[in-house]
Amino acid sequence: MAKVNLKRYGLYLIRWQLSTPILAVVLYTLSGTGKIMATTIANLIGGLIFFWVDKFIFTSELLAVQWEVKDTVVCVDCGRQARGYRIVRAAGYDKSRDSKPEFRCEECSKKKTEELRKQGIEI
Ligand SMILES: [Zn+2]
Repeated sequence: MAKVNLKRYGLYLIRWQLSTPILAVVLYTLSGTGKIMATTIANLIGGLIFFWVDKFIFTSELLAVQWEVKDTVVCVDCGRQARGYRIVRAAGYDKSRDSKPEFRCEECSKKKTEELRKQGIEI
């Protein structure tokens, strides 16, 4: 399975949960119009709302930064054993196919993040 941006995936799952009550309210409100008409209108309203929500989830740069966290690593910068962080993917930065991923402790990770920001990578 391809690597998935967990933030986008999580929001998408939440969005599915939100669509159910919204569509249920519409179906209940329109129950006097017949099942097919109520379902058609409910799906139309759902489409009008969730087109924009889905577009945000799948295209927003705000959700583009993907981190990987491991409980215990040896920091590639300082050599300390600690919880490890690395950026897998951001706009203009892709280490998703890195054969030797580099994890850093929290302190070194902050320094590395600053370096990447200075290089113009939006994190
Ligand atoms: Zn470190």
